[in-house]
Amino acid sequence: MTQTYVDIAYIVACVFFILGIKKLGRSRTARQGNLFSMIGMSIAVVAVFFESSFMDSWSPRFLNNGYFYAVLALAIGSLLGTIWAKRVQMIDMPQLVALFNGFGGLSSLLVALAEFSKYYAQQSFTTANKLSSIALGLTIIIGAVTFTGSVLAWAKLAGRMNGKAIRWPGQNLMNFVLLVLALGATAVYVLPDFAANLKLLAIVGSAIISLLLGVTFVIAIGGGDMPIIISLLNSFSGLAASMAGFAIDNNVLVVAGCLVGASGIILTIIMCKAMNKALFSLLFAKYKAGKKSDGDYVEPKSLSVEDAFPILEAAQSVVFIPGYGMAVAQAQHVVKELAQKLEDNGCEVSYVIHPVAGRMPGHMNVLLAEADIDYDQLLTMEEMNPLMGQQDLAIIIGANDVVNPVAEDDPDSPIYGMPIIQAYKANTVFVLKRGQGMGYSGLENTLFTKDNTVMIYGDAKSTISAFVKEFQDLAD
Ligand code: NDP
Repeated sequence: MTQTYVDIAYIVACVFFILGIKKLGRSRTARQGNLFSMIGMSIAVVAVFFESSFMDSWSPRFLNNGYFYAVLALAIGSLLGTIWAKRVQMIDMPQLVALFNGFGGLSSLLVALAEFSKYYAQQSFTTANKLSSIALGLTIIIGAVTFTGSVLAWAKLAGRMNGKAIRWPGQNLMNFVLLVLALGATAVYVLPDFAANLKLLAIVGSAIISLLLGVTFVIAIGGGDMPIIISLLNSFSGLAASMAGFAIDNNVLVVAGCLVGASGIILTIIMCKAMNKALFSLLFAKYKAGKKSDGDYVEPKSLSVEDAFPILEAAQSVVFIPGYGMAVAQAQHVVKELAQKLEDNGCEVSYVIHPVAGRMPGHMNVLLAEADIDYDQLLTMEEMNPLMGQQDLAIIIGANDVVNPVAEDDPDSPIYGMPIIQAYKANTVFVLKRGQGMGYSGLENTLFTKDNTVMIYGDAKSTISAFVKEFQDLAD
């Protein structure tokens, strides 16, 4: 009877998950989406305590009691999660998301290993059906790949290692061999003919090979392609959870995992479209020996805020193009202030966001929403590009890769083919950045040396605040 209530609770939890994900699709309803998902997860967690298989783990002896370990794990996880979420700076959010994906993969891997150890302790694998055995093997592979792959993505995003793609000859073949070995080891576990100790060896071997595969697979991706791999790893973490659900026969895990897996793959497709890349060719790109830049260095023109101000003041139409540097500078609120001054001055203001600007999907949308930017002034890249030629001034706030014309002009460039915001078409372009720093892709930007481009060096927040002050001084 209790199990019936548990199943009903699982269905309710799943409904909350689905509503949560739907509401997360829009900035206006995202907070509510988070709340719904939290309620769903809380229901699911409480329901698990009443699962008949879990209730069997009750024991009057403290250290033998499954509930003791579950409550301990919940307490440690909740404490760490709360401290981490409170401490994290907005700028470090993408790294945190990458780690969350990794922990998702790791927990599915641990669930599968724990399930295996149960059978191993009984020295009998006949109680598990074929489907859940296959699911267990796949959970180990996908969970392990997701874990190490995400840790590597975190290291790249956090600047703990070089963010560029690291490739070597024969890498794709090596990855293929590792995958075949991991699948072969899974077959040893699934097929009934092998002894328990051999199955143990196969499962441990599969986990180790897959951990290695996560590294060799993600290390080959870098620069501007990172958004795609992060959304793919997000999808993998869901897939691993749903496989774990099949392995331990837990429906809510299957559904929740599928939701994450499916939404992650949709996001991956959106990212691929935004960057004009095919997933297959990105993942299995051929090794190319590096090519050194052969162009002579040309110094870009730069102006001080005071000297650039007359151009700003005279502009009748201004488009703001935010990028990662705006997030670093936390300049979104002063951007809104400057926009207000411009509008008071009779200027038409708009904003355009590139889908991969910043370091996580929707990064710029979140920042601009935080500053209460009017949604009607926000244009997509496709909407803005045809209008760019009519703009008096494009102000690039800490963006680099997403406005780099090499994506259109240089077939040898790693970002060739990625649609960009065509800032170069505006009458004048202001580029606000601190110095000669490259974008995430590590490429030189040919926009900076174009005739109509002016660099204004300094932290974006200070530069924009200085422009606001110029307007105030003018009014006084
Ligand atoms: P970029 O990373 O290309 O460039 C950011 C620029 O900001 C740098 O050139 C830097 O130059 C400047 N900057 C840094 N701090 C400041 C500051 N305080 N004030 C002013 N400028 C500053 O950013 P984009 O947004 O143009 O492109 C995003 C890149 O990140 C793309 O390559 C994308 O593929 C990648 N990526 C995106 C993810 C996503 O999901 N959106 C995830 C992972 C990677 P300087 O040091 O000289 O100031």
